[in-house]
Amino acid sequence: MKRRIVFVLLVVLVALSVPGLANNFEGKLTAFVNVNVIPMDSERTLRDQTVLIDNGRIIAMKPSSGFKIPKSATIIDGKDKFLIPGLMDMHVHFEEKHLSLYLANGITTIRNLNGDSTHLEIREKLNRGKLQGPRVYTTGPLITVPETRWKIKAVPESPEVARTIVKNQKAAGYDFIKVYDGISESVYRAIIEEAKIQGIQVVGHVPKSVGLEGAAKNGQVSVDHAEQIVYSYVGFPLDEEKIQGAVSIISKAKMWVCPTLAVQEIFKLNRQAKFVKMLEDPEMKFVDQDIFEWWKSFARTSRRDGHANSLDFYDFQVKLTKALFDAGVPILAGTDAPNPGMVHGFALHEELRNLVHAGLTPYEALKAATVNGALFLDEEERFGTIKVGMIADLLLLDGNPLENIEATRSNSGVMARGRWYSKSELNRILKEIGKKRS
Ligand SMILES: [Zn+2]
Repeated sequence: MKRRIVFVLLVVLVALSVPGLANNFEGKLTAFVNVNVIPMDSERTLRDQTVLIDNGRIIAMKPSSGFKIPKSATIIDGKDKFLIPGLMDMHVHFEEKHLSLYLANGITTIRNLNGDSTHLEIREKLNRGKLQGPRVYTTGPLITVPETRWKIKAVPESPEVARTIVKNQKAAGYDFIKVYDGISESVYRAIIEEAKIQGIQVVGHVPKSVGLEGAAKNGQVSVDHAEQIVYSYVGFPLDEEKIQGAVSIISKAKMWVCPTLAVQEIFKLNRQAKFVKMLEDPEMKFVDQDIFEWWKSFARTSRRDGHANSLDFYDFQVKLTKALFDAGVPILAGTDAPNPGMVHGFALHEELRNLVHAGLTPYEALKAATVNGALFLDEEERFGTIKVGMIADLLLLDGNPLENIEATRSNSGVMARGRWYSKSELNRILKEIGKKRS
């Protein structure tokens, strides 16, 4: 009796924690049958497989013919469908209300680039199953100067204070330290040194005071935004001759790059009718009203960067991204949602399209949003590919994304930590959110 009350309470709690998300995982076996698996360990497709999930893990994967599925298993028909690892958006800014938008877009992991205690609480609730959504990794408040306009920030007035900030962020449980614009070289050095002592990695922008070479030399692990490479190394006017120099610094230092091209494409379009048309896209109903007003204001402004030069800023970053990729620099797919045009969840498909536009094959673009993310997070033994023993973070698609990257939008259901969300359930969730915000 007591047990049943506890169970009912748990169900109620889960149901209450994310309105519209019912918990349909009952610890039973689930089997995808006759599905084409794209495991993402190499460019290959395993035809007609059965993938068996128990307690959130993949426990078997074999050809469907001759595979005896336990009677108790819930069957998911995968005929003519494609199963890929759950996607990762490696650069976001989010709040709790956005979590289901990620699930609905097949995204099972996100990296948040400016976190505070609310993000730590969300991460904790997700890990304990009290909330449903993608797995969350988060930096602490970005470390910058008072003029920076973002609400969440840490502002050290000296290298000593910077060290304390790093210590406190590590102690609070953040996954990364984020450096941002404006900080001095001495503050930057203090952050890097203390982060090494604390065993936490430094990611983010490249402050002008240190430049790309300084960031590389000091061991910053990732550069967020291809535009940061322009600001910290190439400069203006844009010069393609400088691309190789930047690429060699980054590749020698084994840094990762999260180019966030899709948002740059938007900035290229902002003065054109296309931008206004984009603001009428169906997914705009999922954008918070204040954010949407901010986006609309971009239709009236000229270029954000304000640099007049012969080469287009976006096109330059596209070339830069391809050169980085060609040199073997690991690329991460990130969107920087909710920057203009970047709708939480939906935007990752735009970034994948942009990576293919840059010259990556669909497989390499998909890697940037799956296995590369896992490698970057040092979690490649837990998720990012499909094999026995991995956590069941999976996305079922109607189309083959290796043939056409746009197929990542053909969502036919998502499994996050072993919980299955059918297409109709995801549609229902989206409908509810859309109603609330319009
Ligand atoms: Zn950002």
